[in-house]
Amino acid sequence: MARININYLNLKAGYLFPEISKRVRVFQKNNPKAKIIKLGIGDVTLPLPKQVVRAMKKAVQDMGTSKGFRGYGPEQGYLFLRELISKHDFGSRGVSIDPEEIFVSDGSKCDTGNITDIFGIQNRVAVTDPAYPVYVDTNIMDGRSLEYLPMVSDNNFEPPLPKKKADLIYICSPNNPTGIPATRAALKKWVKYAREHQSIIFFDAAYEGFIRNPAIPHSIFEIPGARQVAIEFRSFSKAAGFTGTRCAYTVVPKQLMGQGRGRQKISIHGLWMRRQTTKFNGVSYPIQAGAASIYSVKGRRETKKLTDYYMMNAKIIRKYMKALGLEVYGGTDAPYIWIRAPYNMSSWEFFDLLLSEAHVVGTPGSGFGPSGEGYLRLSAFGSRKDVENAMPRIKKVIG
Ligand SMILES: *Cc1c(COP(=O)(O)O)cnc(C)c1O
Repeated sequence: MARININYLNLKAGYLFPEISKRVRVFQKNNPKAKIIKLGIGDVTLPLPKQVVRAMKKAVQDMGTSKGFRGYGPEQGYLFLRELISKHDFGSRGVSIDPEEIFVSDGSKCDTGNITDIFGIQNRVAVTDPAYPVYVDTNIMDGRSLEYLPMVSDNNFEPPLPKKKADLIYICSPNNPTGIPATRAALKKWVKYAREHQSIIFFDAAYEGFIRNPAIPHSIFEIPGARQVAIEFRSFSKAAGFTGTRCAYTVVPKQLMGQGRGRQKISIHGLWMRRQTTKFNGVSYPIQAGAASIYSVKGRRETKKLTDYYMMNAKIIRKYMKALGLEVYGGTDAPYIWIRAPYNMSSWEFFDLLLSEAHVVGTPGSGFGPSGEGYLRLSAFGSRKDVENAMPRIKKVIG
C-alpha cells in the first residue's frame, strides 16, 4: 500500500471555521427568525474596482485576437507588472527592489505555504502566536518543530525573541488576527536578531494597504540590513478585492543566502526561481493586467476607497467596543479588531454568548493559537449596515 506523508497525521483537524459554521447552523435551526450578522469573515465583500474590471475585460478581448493572444507567460510574472510593483510599492517609499527580485503568484497563501519547500527540515522555526494557520500547518506537514512567540496584552502584542536560536521566523504585519502592526523599532530588533543569528524572516504584509499611521513601515525592506535576511509576501487580495481573482507577489532579494553543503552559501533567490519554474506556470494574463491597473491614478484612488470603507467599519467597531469598557486592540492599521473576552470568558464562551444573545458571529481567538485564548476577532470586511446593526446588539448583551 502506498505510504502517506505521516506528518499529516500530526495536523490538528481544520477545526476553527467548520466549528464556527456548525455552531451558527445549529443556532439558526433552533432560532429560525434570528437575523445573524457575520463579523467573523476574513474575506472581502466589496466588488472589484471599476478600473480593474476594465483592464481585465480588455485583456480577455486581446487574448481573443491573433495579435493580442498570449500563451504561457513568464513564470516570474509579466515585467510590466513587476516594474509597477517595484516603482510604486517600494521605490515610492525609498526602497530599492529590482523587478527581478519580484515573483508574481496566485496568492500569498500559496507563497507563505510553499516557501518551506526550499528549506531543510532541520531548521528551527519561530512563529508568532496567535498566527495565520498556514505558517504552523505547513511546517508540521514537513515535520519541522516550532517555537511559539506569544503576543498578548502583557507584552503589548510585541513578540519576544526566540528562546532557542531560530533559523526561520514568521512575522505578519499588520497582523492577522490581532490587527496590530509592528513598529519600526520592533522590526529593527528582528532584523538585528536575524543578522546576528543568520536567520531568515518571512514577512507577511498582506494587510499593508490598510496601514494609516505614517510611522509604521510598509515593508521590512525599509529597515536597513533587511535585504540580507528577509523575504516579503504581498497580496492584492485584501486591499484590491482579489480574493476571488487571485494575484499576489513575493520579494526575494538577490543578496539573501542560505547554507548548502558544509559552509557553501546558496542564493535563496535562485532556489525560489528553481522551485517556481518547476512547480508553477504563472498567473493568467488578464489577472496580471487587472493587478497592473491598480497602480494607475484612478486605480490607486479606487483601491484607497475600498480600504477606507473597511477602515471606517473598523473605527465604528472599535469605538463601540471601547465605549462598552472592553479591552480593544487593532483596527487602526488593519481590518481586524482583537477583543479581550470580558469576565474571564474563554474565546468560545464569548463567541457563544455573542451568537446566542446578539446573533453576531466573531472568530474565537483560540483558533489562531494558544495565546489567542481569551480573545475574539471581529472583522471589518462586512457591510456598513451589518456593522451598524451589530453594534447596538452587542451593547445590549455586554453593556
Ligand atoms: C488573507 C491573507 C493572505 C493572503 O492570501 P491570498 O492567498 O493572497 O489571498 C496572506 N496572509 C495573511 C495573514 C492573510 O490573512
